[in-house]
Amino acid sequence: MGRLVVVSNRVSLPTDKGARAGGLAVALEDAMIPGSLWFGWSGRRGGANSDRASVSEHQGITYATVDLGETDYRRFYVGFSNGALWPLLHYRTGLIDYRRDDYEGYVAVNDLFAARLAPLLQPDDVIWIHDYQLLTLAEALRRLGVKNRIGLFVHIPFVPPAVLHVLPEAEHLVRAMAAADLVGFQTHGDRLNFLESAASCMEMQRVGEDGFVHNGHRTMTTVTPVGIDVEGFARAARRAAGMTETRRLISSLVGRALAIGVDRLDYTKGLPLRFAAFGRLFLRHPEHLRRISLLQIAARSREDVDRYQSLRRELDRQAGEINGAYSDFDWTPVRYMTRAVNRTTIAGFYRIASIGLVTPLRDGMNLVAKEYIAAQDPADPGVLVLSRFAGAAEDLTEALIVNPYDADQVADAMHTALLMPPEERVARHAALLAKIRERTAASFCRAFLDQLRQVER
Ligand code: ADP
Repeated sequence: MGRLVVVSNRVSLPTDKGARAGGLAVALEDAMIPGSLWFGWSGRRGGANSDRASVSEHQGITYATVDLGETDYRRFYVGFSNGALWPLLHYRTGLIDYRRDDYEGYVAVNDLFAARLAPLLQPDDVIWIHDYQLLTLAEALRRLGVKNRIGLFVHIPFVPPAVLHVLPEAEHLVRAMAAADLVGFQTHGDRLNFLESAASCMEMQRVGEDGFVHNGHRTMTTVTPVGIDVEGFARAARRAAGMTETRRLISSLVGRALAIGVDRLDYTKGLPLRFAAFGRLFLRHPEHLRRISLLQIAARSREDVDRYQSLRRELDRQAGEINGAYSDFDWTPVRYMTRAVNRTTIAGFYRIASIGLVTPLRDGMNLVAKEYIAAQDPADPGVLVLSRFAGAAEDLTEALIVNPYDADQVADAMHTALLMPPEERVARHAALLAKIRERTAASFCRAFLDQLRQVER
């Protein structure tokens, strides 16, 4: 069997210390077996682009990384990936900050990745490219004559043609994606959007429901939702129950309920509306005043993109406003922190929270929803309040599904959760737990790679 070559924007070197926020690094941990190669950006920038990859080995896994020059980094990463593609693929066309130079930088960095990766490849390697930063990489590799099997998994949502064509280079982008043999998505809706977008961009013959042929190349698509290591996370949550941080949190609540939100500080996560919904809870159901607190852990993220700084200021203001309006001398409704927290500690916090609030305006999957379920005590679980616009909602239908734009609906769901009879909580949680056990991080990797290895070419 050929070697697995994973390509992602950032490579998490095993020597990197400290907490990591972001779903991708966590999901990939399972795929990287000894003998594999992981290729990507080193995280270093400022000098020149590397003229070759820097290669190291750790426990049988080879890590190959390139550095990026400051201009390319800004255009590729800050400009196009996070300033244009991220809002576009989350349906936020009004937030797109588009510059043609940035797109050129994006393509240039994808080309650079291809040029530095190609010399490291062996003929039977299977290449698995990850995510929205590398949508033109498969095509760049093909231009260099790479014939290997190439899979591309898009971790974030994909939009229908009417939204995609806001981007002037939509056609180029979709054609480049089609250079892969297999393109994977989180949900059926995302896959369908891609197929419709592809049909709007090029002449093609359909191959069954899931694929197409363009210029003699066959592109198949698949849906392989990302999951988590459920048993590992549940163990961490049980272990965390006895830890100092968890005990301190419990004692600070003095018997009150806790709702928890854990997110990167990102405008797709719907945090201002979530705060507003929490405020609405006290207006619509005043019996919960002084009986519940919200702990929102929002790890700062992408601070070199302006929108993220203004979002942070907005949340600071809103948390202050709600606390000013409702706090008592011995009770604060919103506890809001903007740093990354150790994963075991988070697992313990999830476990003692009666409500898990996962209310993104749009999200590829949302692993926090799955972590919250995994961390619960099955005999006395909390209730997940989940946005219908998270990829996770396609499967996790036993959560309380809400429209995050409707703050009153989210407030009512919290009220329902707080009053939910124990038997119903247990039954919903059991159904959700069974589902996340079906689709773990390991099964995601296996499902995608099995299909990539077998896809007819
Ligand atoms: P995204 O990939 O958009 O960040 P996900 O919900 O899919 O969203 O994945 C987020 C991952 O990052 C989860 O594993 C979550 O536990 C972790 N995470 C999010 N916020 C924090 C934080 N403040 N501290 C530590 N880990 C965090």
